[in-house]
Amino acid sequence: MVVKINRDKCMYCGGCVGLCPVNALTLQEVRLVVSNKCTECGICIQFCPVGALQ
Ligand code: SF4
Ligand code: SF4
Repeated sequence: MVVKINRDKCMYCGGCVGLCPVNALTLQEVRLVVSNKCTECGICIQFCPVGALQ
């Protein structure tokens, strides 16, 4: 299980990318991707200003 990204809501601000302690989030071209390094700590979910992560 990893974080789910709502692609309709994500505006690709990149803010969550820098917060992830294990670098599990990357912006690839205009897409945000989460890898299996995600530990479900929830930091990015709490941060996202548009609620695009769950
Ligand atoms: S913080 Fe939210 S809006 Fe910004 S890139 Fe991450 S998921 Fe997308
Ligand atoms: S839940 Fe934590 S470990 Fe997973 S992508 Fe978000 S910040 Fe990274």
